[in-house]
Amino acid sequence: MVNTGVNSLVSTGLQLYACQPDTQSTSFDGSRQEVRQSRRAERAHWMDPTHANARTPPAAIAIRSSECVEAAQTGHAGAYNDSMASSPRRLAVLLGLIVCALWTVDLTAQAPRFRVTLLGTGSPPPRMDRFGPATLVEAGTDIFLFDAGRGVLQRLAQTGTEYRNLRALFLTHLHSDHIVGLPDLWLTGWLVSHRDHPLQVFGPKGTSDFAIHLARAFAYDLGIRADDDGGNPAGSRLEVTEIEEGVLYRQDGVTITAFNVDHRPVAPAFGYRVDYGGHSAVISGDTRMSENLVKWAKGADLLIHEVAYRTGETQATSRILAHHTLPAQAGDVFSRVAPRLAVYSHVGVSQDVSDARLIEMTRATYKGPLVVGADLMSFDIGETVRVNPPPVR
Ligand SMILES: [Zn+2]
Ligand SMILES: [Zn+2]
Repeated sequence: MVNTGVNSLVSTGLQLYACQPDTQSTSFDGSRQEVRQSRRAERAHWMDPTHANARTPPAAIAIRSSECVEAAQTGHAGAYNDSMASSPRRLAVLLGLIVCALWTVDLTAQAPRFRVTLLGTGSPPPRMDRFGPATLVEAGTDIFLFDAGRGVLQRLAQTGTEYRNLRALFLTHLHSDHIVGLPDLWLTGWLVSHRDHPLQVFGPKGTSDFAIHLARAFAYDLGIRADDDGGNPAGSRLEVTEIEEGVLYRQDGVTITAFNVDHRPVAPAFGYRVDYGGHSAVISGDTRMSENLVKWAKGADLLIHEVAYRTGETQATSRILAHHTLPAQAGDVFSRVAPRLAVYSHVGVSQDVSDARLIEMTRATYKGPLVVGADLMSFDIGETVRVNPPPVR
């Protein structure tokens, strides 16, 4: 299939698959840089295949100090790590939140219309607190996914989203850390959600080959699931569109645009911009500091950007760092784009670098609102950009 009306080049028939929690939230009013922290009662996180988990209604809390926000966000990133549940760091974070917080009840919280959820904020090394790169975007009733790193299906299930309703998956590039979760999303998603229609996959040149070979690799399972489990063959297909820079999707008030970023020698590599309801979110993908990203991200409410740093190494001594963006470089990008909120994801830093240290290094070039992302942290974009920290288990 060739998808006309977008800058698509190729497409093949194959197939695939693909959720939202809140316990607290923080709002950024970009003009005043005022921070509001609110708490919601924890929703159901572990979605069973029937999506039958009950949800509790939200409550709320508010903080009015940028320092507190940084402390809180740093803490949230750590708080999600189950293994840290009783750690001194987590205790310090909770104390920090209590000390900083000016609690106010927000009884007017309503369901968001434009929400971005970080499903995975990690980089290649396996970690339990940071799964592989993947970002969920909900715009109105439409659901989109950007990248499918390690554990994407588990994280998607934790959000409670009906993944059978996923409109499309957009890949930033074909490095394995961004696509290694795709077979699970595709096959298990088909099996569990009884998907009956192909999933659209947008990606760079090479995505069609990737999908074709996936179908060959899993041919036995595709056959036996259709024959023995009654899976609808149509739901087992990946429908791929290979892309170039430009508008890829425009429907129901949602516009999704791909733009080139600089991840050489991996090329092409894309960032994405989602526009909805007069607001916008930008996802950098993997990139070294990119002028083109600055251009396309201008005016964005939310800018989710990758970051890399290794103590004792530089971009001259490390090939990995040379392909990515250092904290001070990301800060420069944030200063020029001036989003209402900047967020780090795909956090590729050495183990000795804390979130607080990451923010400190970024402050050399950027003084605006900044959050170090954590798996299952979400953002509601509207008159304010509200941060919903990951659920504390
Ligand atoms: Zn990469
Ligand atoms: Zn990567």
